[in-house]
Amino acid sequence: MLQFSPVSQLRLYNTLTRRLQPFVPQEPGKVKMYHCGPTVYQRPHIGNYRAFLFADLLRRTFEASGLEVLQVMNLTDVGHLVGDADEGEDKLDAQARKEKVDPWQIVATVSEQFFQDLEALQIRPAHHYPKATDHIEEMVAQIEVLLEKGHAYRVGDNVYFDVHSFPDYGRLSGNKVADLEAGARVEVNQEKRHPADFALWKSDPRHLMKWKTVFGEHGFPGWHIECSAMSMKYLGDSFDLHTGGEDNVFPHHECEIAQAEGVSGKTFVNLWMHTKFLQVDGGKMSKSLGNVYSLDDLEQRGFEVLDFRFLVLRAHYRASVNFTWKALQGAAEARKNLHDFRGRLQAQLRGPAMQAEAGEHSGPARKAFWDALHDDLNTSAALAALFELRNAYTQKGMEATEAADALDLLNLADDIFGLFDQESADSGDLPDPEIDALVEERNQARRNRDFARSDQIRDQLAAAGIVLEDGPEGTLWHRA
Ligand SMILES: [Zn+2]
Repeated sequence: MLQFSPVSQLRLYNTLTRRLQPFVPQEPGKVKMYHCGPTVYQRPHIGNYRAFLFADLLRRTFEASGLEVLQVMNLTDVGHLVGDADEGEDKLDAQARKEKVDPWQIVATVSEQFFQDLEALQIRPAHHYPKATDHIEEMVAQIEVLLEKGHAYRVGDNVYFDVHSFPDYGRLSGNKVADLEAGARVEVNQEKRHPADFALWKSDPRHLMKWKTVFGEHGFPGWHIECSAMSMKYLGDSFDLHTGGEDNVFPHHECEIAQAEGVSGKTFVNLWMHTKFLQVDGGKMSKSLGNVYSLDDLEQRGFEVLDFRFLVLRAHYRASVNFTWKALQGAAEARKNLHDFRGRLQAQLRGPAMQAEAGEHSGPARKAFWDALHDDLNTSAALAALFELRNAYTQKGMEATEAADALDLLNLADDIFGLFDQESADSGDLPDPEIDALVEERNQARRNRDFARSDQIRDQLAAAGIVLEDGPEGTLWHRA
């Protein structure tokens, strides 16, 4: 039995209000959340996955607290420009020209890699992964409402959002329109009414992915309108939570709020959460330094993808994480220590004399674990609580009930953090009674000094991923 902790104690940091606030879902018992997903022009790197792992942490924490979650993550497959100020090429267009392939082919290949990576990272699948190119109609409809309500204007076949029509513009990022305009490079686009206005729809006959709409023959959407249209389609005008990386705060999320609230007149999102960048070798990842790593790069160095997941979880999501190979090694060792701890507890509790019910003792470790998570998802403190428990076990062992409670807490932590490989735990394993029988047969063989047979059984169990530990109280076993 898992012990649930009331979600009412959960406090989360809201980028919009710049303070911690209690989490109160709009509809009791349910959470609706949207996450800005990848732009599928090249395989996401490990830095991108920090934000997606955070989305999964939210999902798992809510689910472990008994809430029903509706989760949406978009795939941006058009309209994400290289520059922030409506400038530069579309990332997908540019990649397609560079590779001399169809952009739709790139979308298909990269999306497939992305979903494989999510699976390897044990990220629970969102309920919807809408693609921008499948929602052109919804975007056009929102732009038409914005035009009607005076939030947008047309210049030829282009449509822009008028930031002066939305007084709250800048509230999320702390930017002031006047400062933005003073700093804007005016020469970028002369046809905007104000330099801080942003494109909702762009016309370009040379663009590879383009649509014929009421705005003209060859148009494509701005990146920001994609997320307003898709989030509102799947989650409604107003929902609980929206996340992204810290680079999404401005302009992307600022523009999303202006568009969505411009359309509906309602509060778009109650809680905005953002993860800090992942640093690599103390700085920003860069192609020239050769440190834009994918999950494959980690595996090629002998690590498991879950070691990276653990490395990310060791830091609070609003704190810096510096990725180095040494840090990954440290994370791998720490994860293995927890895994071995769980294995020992399982082994201890396997004997018939050791059967014990867990969940009745709310030990200090369990409280520390939940208190940490409730404090703005402080994963590093939650993990520290598990390691303290492990230290206590190493120093003085545990009685059966205590061990059962510790194991229960580790299983809860695994449920929320996805620490251990679920595949190896579930698939193709020998059932427990069969292992018990083999262990007993091996003990018998050893008593008969039939070491050939006892070694044979040890090898057979090792091949099935079973580790034996011979000790003064007999032989304990656990799954590797
Ligand atoms: Zn987005």
